[in-house]
Amino acid sequence: MTIRRIVYSNEPILHEPSRRVRRIDARLEKLIDDMIETMREANGIGLAAVQVGVQERLIVVEMPLLPEDEQDMEEVPETELYVLINPEIVEASDELGWGVEGCLSIPGWAGEVERHEAITVEGLDREGREVRICAEGLLARVFQHEVDHCQGVLFIDRIEDPDRIWSVEEGQEEAAEAAQERPSD
Ligand code: ZN
Repeated sequence: MTIRRIVYSNEPILHEPSRRVRRIDARLEKLIDDMIETMREANGIGLAAVQVGVQERLIVVEMPLLPEDEQDMEEVPETELYVLINPEIVEASDELGWGVEGCLSIPGWAGEVERHEAITVEGLDREGREVRICAEGLLARVFQHEVDHCQGVLFIDRIEDPDRIWSVEEGQEEAAEAAQERPSD
């Protein structure tokens, strides 16, 4: 596995839609492995292929199974890893909520974004099987953030009020592509 260079938001490809994946082959397998490695190395909880310079609709998401305050501190937290090829959000709740997000492609910045509270996302797993994931809360937010990357949309594009974007210490934003949930206001 290879850690790939993360593309920053000043690079045009991050603002362009990615194309659909046509074939699951050795090249794609390698890309998936590299993306997982790159996401973990950067302490991210989600990564889209375009963020490592490949304009194809492919995302990886990895989240702890339990929220931080419920984890056993003695042990490495258990996580759930999702690999989704050609992801598509097929259902979204009417209910919206605000939450803080960061992005590995926008180091040093965080912002508050309104997202659907719950979504259903469909796609293929790395074996080419159809999968359907119902997610809510933080997981739903991460999927929305990553699927946005596939369309060339960044979280900052979704923030109209400049007061909802702020700079954070380098490294802090990486704690999450979506750091913490805040009650809606
Ligand atoms: Zn991002």
